[in-house]
Amino acid sequence: MRMENALENRDTFGVSDAVLLDDPDNTDEFIENLRKRFRGDIIYTYIGPVLIVTNPYKPLPIYAEDSIKKYQNVNYIEVAPHVFGLTDNAYKQLREENRDQCILISGESGSGKTEASKQILQYIAAASRNVSSVETTKDKLLYSNPVLEAFGNAQTNRNDNSSRFGKYMDIEFDFRGSPIGGHILNYLLEKSRVVNQSQGERNFHIFYQLLTGVDDATLSSLQLTRSVVNYNYLNQGQVKIAGQDDKKQFEVVKQAMSRVGFEDAEITEVFQIVAAILHVGNVNFKQDGHYGKIATPDVVKTAAQLLGCTPEKLTKAFTHRTIEARGDFVTSPLTFDQCTYARDALSKAVYERLFTWLVSKLNESLKSDFNGKRTLMGILDIYGFEIFEKNSFEQFCINYCNEKLQQLFIELTLKSEQEEYRKEGIEWQHVDYFNNKVICDLIEERHKGMIAIMDEECLRPGDANDFSLLEKMDENLSSHNHYLSHKIANNVTRKSLTRDEFRLLHYAGEVTYKVHGFLDKNNDLLFRDLREAMTQSNKKILQLVFPAGELLRKKRPDTAATQFKNSLAQLMEILMSKEPSYIRCIKPNDFKKSGVFDLEIVGHQVKYLGLMENLRVRRAGFAYRRKYDTFLDRYKSLCPQTWPHFQGPADKGVELLMKHLGYHEDDYQLGKTKIFIRHAQTLFAIEDAFQIR
Ligand code: ATP
Ligand code: MG
Repeated sequence: MRMENALENRDTFGVSDAVLLDDPDNTDEFIENLRKRFRGDIIYTYIGPVLIVTNPYKPLPIYAEDSIKKYQNVNYIEVAPHVFGLTDNAYKQLREENRDQCILISGESGSGKTEASKQILQYIAAASRNVSSVETTKDKLLYSNPVLEAFGNAQTNRNDNSSRFGKYMDIEFDFRGSPIGGHILNYLLEKSRVVNQSQGERNFHIFYQLLTGVDDATLSSLQLTRSVVNYNYLNQGQVKIAGQDDKKQFEVVKQAMSRVGFEDAEITEVFQIVAAILHVGNVNFKQDGHYGKIATPDVVKTAAQLLGCTPEKLTKAFTHRTIEARGDFVTSPLTFDQCTYARDALSKAVYERLFTWLVSKLNESLKSDFNGKRTLMGILDIYGFEIFEKNSFEQFCINYCNEKLQQLFIELTLKSEQEEYRKEGIEWQHVDYFNNKVICDLIEERHKGMIAIMDEECLRPGDANDFSLLEKMDENLSSHNHYLSHKIANNVTRKSLTRDEFRLLHYAGEVTYKVHGFLDKNNDLLFRDLREAMTQSNKKILQLVFPAGELLRKKRPDTAATQFKNSLAQLMEILMSKEPSYIRCIKPNDFKKSGVFDLEIVGHQVKYLGLMENLRVRRAGFAYRRKYDTFLDRYKSLCPQTWPHFQGPADKGVELLMKHLGYHEDDYQLGKTKIFIRHAQTLFAIEDAFQIR
């Protein structure tokens, strides 16, 4: 049992549940506990029901069939902490109580979120019934991952397989607990990566997989060469392809696409679009007076062919812009810089819409035709808090998302904790915690929040630009405790801000944002001419993702930030309606290395994952709780009135037992179905008595 293990090996391997630590306010002790365990390759630790994982950066033999068996049909707190234990517990509640579940995985880039989400799927697939109809569903669920990762993941400085989009996946179960379908929601793909990558980073995996993995005939039909350096979109960051077996992975991806139901013609078209983007990236311009002109007409021709449109249309779209004003269309030539901008805008838009199409295709295939009552298990694998050297609009959105999730975490952990006390009729003392709702409001409040201000600037005709946006935010938000303007930030202790920066005091720490590109990225407009070229494509997928009706629509589409805000609000609603479980992932070092546990780096994550607060809340009430019968079963031998058999109800037996052991009423409380023990020490003492009995 977990409790014995914890006691026996406490000095060597720490405790398996942080509530058993001596001092809930001592961060060092908390981290030391994680470190002890990490050294012994024990990567999992609980805080009550919350699972902490420290990424081992090496394969551990703890995910095979025998491990899965170990966690089936047991109470998860009776066995060593594990993602399988947490999953089994959620799965059990889903089956036995018919309650929708969700598992929320958080942590910074490279901490192990996606690996955890795959382990959850693996467990569900193994632990559920084996009938052929269900097998197909399981297959599709498992094979959706390689497809999404090929198009949505990339090698970054933080993670060789970094998810560059947020993912929420629902698995649907029938009344027997068999998976019968699923649904995926995707969030904010980092599309800027298509056209440029930082030093040491790569574009999305699929580009490299295609170049190295595709057969010679297809390669030449796509008019590609195998050499990565030939492509402008691939030769800026990391050209070397370390640690990725792109060639092998291409086969896996192609197979996976077939397995989840893509038709051959669709697969061909997908790769044509991917190839087209590489060609578009190689389109060059030259200066022609004030304006830009195509310098590489052959490349335009190839790109047009693969995109299914005419080279003339594409040429015009790269070099001209048509604006509709009161029913009139006015076309004007673009400058050299604007041409480059238009070219890259097309690549980003095409890739983003292709990705969305892939997700909808997966959803179509995962859709179940089962009509009865279904229960859901959601898995959220979404980008963690980001503080980079330079933080832009993308980080702003990602960090906003994390504020929302933290808000949900606070509400749900505190709420469920309080709920349990209420249900059990237990008195408890409220704990203070930092409620980050103020920051969420600062960002999203209607009419006066940051997003509202950004949108207002986007819609303002005339000279709106990043600086006027910053000016407006400074003007309206400087009095807010969590917003810092460069005008007043240049005081004593704080690192001063430059004229193009603002700072947000996020719950997880301060982040300085550069305002460059905010307006443009929020606007996210694709020139009409580019859209027109795409709507006329003869490729099926492009026709679907660039519907002709889009050109006729008068209303401006929502801005990027507003769309994101709306989809987050929808996500919060989905999550709120379910029973949550939490996995908090920790990255032990910045070098993707096994065996290295960096105290400072871990300390930082412990802080911004709010783990100490979490622990305090858990401990402020009662460190330990257990159903009467389980508790009595274990400790009944400590009391002559309950040993060897106790005839009456279990709660009565526990009461007699605790009185016999001489505990004071302050030490524990008796709820309706459980005993609540305030301090871990009390439990240790009981356990000790039990051990030496
Ligand atoms: P991002 O936010 O960048 O997508 P992430 O949190 O999803 O990051 P993962 O891709 O899951 O991070 O993990 C990064 C790498 O760490 C994996 O590719 C793998 O090498 C290693 N890793 C993560 N979890 C485990 C684990 N449980 N066992 C062994 N290795 C792991
Ligand atoms: Mg990931």
